Amino acid sequence: MKNLFGLTLDELVAELEPLPKFRAKQIAAHIYKHGAKTFDEMNDLPKTLRAELATRYEIKAAELVTQLDSRDGLTTKFLLAFADGAAVEVVLMRHDYGNSVCISSQVGCQMGCKFCASTLNGLERNLTAAEMLGEIFFVADFLRRAGQKLDSVVVMGTGEPLMNFDALIKMLRLLHEDYCLGMSYRKVTISTCGVVPVIKKLRDEKIPVTLSISLHAPDDRLRSELMPINSAFGLKPLLAAVDDYAQSTGRRVTCEYILLGGVNDTEEHARRLAKILSGRLVNVNLIPFNPVDERSFRPPTKNAVQKFFHFLNTHGISATIRKEMGADVNAACGQLRAKQFNA
Ligand code: SF4
Repeated sequence: MKNLFGLTLDELVAELEPLPKFRAKQIAAHIYKHGAKTFDEMNDLPKTLRAELATRYEIKAAELVTQLDSRDGLTTKFLLAFADGAAVEVVLMRHDYGNSVCISSQVGCQMGCKFCASTLNGLERNLTAAEMLGEIFFVADFLRRAGQKLDSVVVMGTGEPLMNFDALIKMLRLLHEDYCLGMSYRKVTISTCGVVPVIKKLRDEKIPVTLSISLHAPDDRLRSELMPINSAFGLKPLLAAVDDYAQSTGRRVTCEYILLGGVNDTEEHARRLAKILSGRLVNVNLIPFNPVDERSFRPPTKNAVQKFFHFLNTHGISATIRKEMGADVNAACGQLRAKQFNA
């Protein structure tokens, strides 16, 4: 049975021919605006049409496998499964400034970052645009039932989104459509470990999403140790791509910097980081490492975090410290899935 979830309006029109376009529009509204899961719910369609559609099509997004709520009530982590049984993690974060969902773009990841649990078994497969949208819809629906709404989307979960570019762009364009969630591009953040040529492709799409770079080290030697991608695209071309993206979109680029105790968190590292970022349209988001059972890194001390933060801010680099959310629900990417499947 063909799944209609994830089709654009044009695709729905083509798929449902010879039905008139207004029927496709009604069906799109039911799927995307009202979260319909069956044709029976589409009560402005004739009964005979509903019955006929149900013999040929289904509306399937993502199914819940496990849900974990943090004790402070601010973070909810979901493990969601797709038709083939592949599962990914999705995290809802309730910030002061609104509800944000962090979605995965791939099942597993091939990028090999040393501090990350998502990459331990490599890449299983890319997610489709419909599956990524399904993650977002699951959480939007969850919030709607609680009388709340989804305010922003971060593509920062498992996977490297720029290695699944076409599906990512299709999902973003659909998400932005009025007949879908109508999400402003400015409310979407794409995080990459630094696939430089694809950052340029993203710029050429002219969709002003916020770009977030996983930087994590202030020099090539340490960055290549932590992140194999750096051996292919070093800091110089990466920072040139950051400048280019910031200039083209007029949007500040976020540099994520995960603080690993004793590895990249000294004042000397802060000094070098300030030097390479000086004069650039960026801000730094410092992320104290969340311990991962499968990795041997340790968190930084509170003192080291504060010193690092203070150094950047007093040397002309705008920096924030990411509020620790959901440590009790294993919010670091890949941990829930790893536990479910390796248990
Ligand atoms: S940090 Fe992101 S890019 Fe790196 S291995 Fe993990 S999921 Fe992949």
